[in-house]
Amino acid sequence: MSVRILTIKEDILGANEEKAKMNRELADQHHILMINITSSPGAGKTSLIMQTIARLKNKARMAVIEGDIASSIDADKVSKEGIPAIQINTAGACHLDANMIRKALDNLDLGQTDLVFIENVGNLICPAEFALGAHKHVLLLSVPEGDDKPRKYPLMFTQADVILINKIDVLPYFDFDMGAFSESVGGLNPAAKVLPISAKTGEGLEQWFSWLEGALDRRK
Ligand code: MG
Repeated sequence: MSVRILTIKEDILGANEEKAKMNRELADQHHILMINITSSPGAGKTSLIMQTIARLKNKARMAVIEGDIASSIDADKVSKEGIPAIQINTAGACHLDANMIRKALDNLDLGQTDLVFIENVGNLICPAEFALGAHKHVLLLSVPEGDDKPRKYPLMFTQADVILINKIDVLPYFDFDMGAFSESVGGLNPAAKVLPISAKTGEGLEQWFSWLEGALDRRK
């Protein structure tokens, strides 16, 4: 499957909320679950998506919108698995916006799609300010980044429905305090589901798959 690359400059801020609402309505018309995945660069968003594709390939028709400042490295990986992938190059912007998502959706066969993952630009700050129209927000934080991130980037943690702590396979080598992390998240966003995982070893991923399957079932 070939990857379409769209280079789109960021839109004027004010119109974003309205466009995000329209994206959500478009997804709803097609009974599509749209999930916005955010994290710092290198936390494992693409690895998580690849594991999820491998697991859910026969259960849900997936598509991925990849946001990066440049390149189509991530979209190429997804596309190799036979999953439709749209690469958005943001021409320097540190986040995706609703207009970019609309253009990507217009390039997907929505009638043949159940689940759209939006892999946002790796950044814990800017993407929190821009609604995309996604139904759920998944925030990925990796162990090497440290347990203090919820206190440093509270907005992003406040918005998340699910917080995945990735790379738990390297926990013995880092001073990541799970208790301190859970306490910070609990103070900001007690409703968020916190799941420790390793996208590399597969540890903990069952919980993620079952949350996702539950969310998919509720869409139908
Ligand atoms: Mg990636």
